[in-house]
Formats: sequence, C-alpha cells, structure tokens
Amino acid sequence: MNGIITDIQHASVHDGPGFRSVVFLKGCQMRCFWCHNPETLQTMPRLSLENSKCLFCGRCAAVCNVHSFADGKHLIDYSRCSLCGRCVRACLPGALSVCGRSVTVDEVIDDIAEDMPFYKNSGGGVTVSGGEPGCQAEFTAGILKCCRELGIHTAIETNLGYGENTLNTLLEYCDLVMADLKHIDPEKHQQGTGCSNLQTLEHLKKITKPLILRTPVIPGFNDDDETIRQMAAFAAGLPSLLYYDLLTYHPLGVAKALRLGMTERGSALEPLGPEAMRRFADIAKSTGVTTYLNGKEI
Ligand code: SF4
Ligand code: SF4
Repeated sequence: MNGIITDIQHASVHDGPGFRSVVFLKGCQMRCFWCHNPETLQTMPRLSLENSKCLFCGRCAAVCNVHSFADGKHLIDYSRCSLCGRCVRACLPGALSVCGRSVTVDEVIDDIAEDMPFYKNSGGGVTVSGGEPGCQAEFTAGILKCCRELGIHTAIETNLGYGENTLNTLLEYCDLVMADLKHIDPEKHQQGTGCSNLQTLEHLKKITKPLILRTPVIPGFNDDDETIRQMAAFAAGLPSLLYYDLLTYHPLGVAKALRLGMTERGSALEPLGPEAMRRFADIAKSTGVTTYLNGKEI
C-alpha cells in the first residue's frame, strides 16, 4: 500500500510520549490560516525553492521554461510543472527540491524500525501526523497495524474533521489520540479553518482511546478568555481525556509556504508572549481540567 509523505522525523520529543518517529503525511481537508505545516496541505508533491540558496545561475531555466527571473526574483509557474525533477538535478547548490514522495507501508516501517531501541528505552513510539492522517486513513492504519505487530506504541495527530468510518479505521491500531480543537464556536471554526467543527466535537465525546486535546492559541482567532474557558470546560467533560494542552503559535509555516510559492500564506502573526499564554493556561485550569502549556503540566 502506498501513501504520500513529506518526511519521517526521528527522535522527536514533541509528538507524544518518549522519543518518537513522526511520519508526516500530505493532504489536509482544513485550511487553517496559521498552518505551521503548509507543505502538507496539498495531497500531491510540489516543487520547492529555497531562495536563500539560489545563485540565479539560470541552470534550472535552461532545462525548463517553468522557471523565469524578473525584478531580482526567481519565478516558478507551478501550473505547468510536471515534477519531472530535471531542474532539481540541474541545481548545483540544492536550492530546488520536490516536497513529498510516494512510499509503501513497508518502506516506512523499515525506516522507523531502526529506532526500536530508542522507543523501548524512552517509552516512545511512532506518531502519524500531517497534514491530516484521516486524508490517508488506510495508509495510516497500515503503518499503525505493522507498528502494533512489532510492539511499537502508536499515536496519531489529527483534527478529527471526518466521518465515523474514517475515525474507526484510524483508531483500530492506535494507542493514543492527539487531537486539535481550534475553536469551540462552529462559525468561527469555519471562518478560521474552512471547515465545521461539528464532527470534531462529536468524535471527541465518543473516543475511548487515551486522548490529549490541544489548542493552538492563535492571535486574533481564539485568544480571548471566554473562548479558552469554554474549550477547557468542554475538554474537562471528555471521558478519555489525559490532559488539555495549550500551544503557542509560531510563525515557522510562513517561510515554508513561501518556499512552495504559496504566497497567500506569506504573512506571519505576532506570537503571544509567555505571560499571556500562562494566563490562558490558568483560565483553562480553573475549569478543573488537567492543563498543560506547550507540553508541560502547570
Ligand atoms: S539552478 Fe538552482 S541556483 Fe541556479 S537559478 Fe535555478 S534554483 Fe537558483
Ligand atoms: S520539476 Fe520538471 S517540469 Fe517542474 S520546473 Fe523542474 S524541470 Fe520543470
């Protein structure tokens, strides 16, 4: 079985317990305006240009007229790129690459199995992230099933914005669910992500696997006392919740988006400072829910 991934990251300490290998899948049904992994939004691979490495030598344009130069800028007409890779091979400083590749479940398992000693010693395992694992549910389930057979702890990072069949497919071999709740208000959620939160809210109430609920606190979107309080109160009532984690927005996604020519995602928000985040965490904790701030209990 094949899937499309952007990367497999090793020894991560941010995506579940212990040292973990994280498989980043391509494809997501949401379009959060602050997305910090915009390279995973589209399902298919895409040409990436790292401007700081480009010497404007013109070797890419010599092999393909998708590349051009104007006003000191390197332009790429993505609508005509067939991802043949000729320009990537022609680019000596490595400014060009293809973001995304097709891999089999076996290839993923071969890669992550190398870290078995780390999983065992640290209480870690494998996390399938994205993008959204629900967009490649069978592939995700294939990875989780093989991990389970090898005795590796399994987790997914998901927005839960899909139907019940997809949820059941993802959960069958999953030991831990790390789910995002981006806004409690359906209309605001729709405005900020392009999708309703109704499936997310319904699934959260039904999940029986250990659950970590996380909210990225986004300036101008969900960073007000009442919204945080309502989300924390909702979290407090979830049957499988381990804890509720508030995450500070960071603007890393902007540079990644620009490398992929996604200029509509080219402006960063001002991140909230530690004091503001601590205040929101205190508000969350006042509802009685076990509260974490950026992965640490308060
Ligand atoms: S071949 Fe590489 S370094 Fe040369 S212009 Fe193209 S992207 Fe820039
Ligand atoms: S990947 Fe192929 S089609 Fe796309 S820009 Fe490079 S040479 Fe042209």
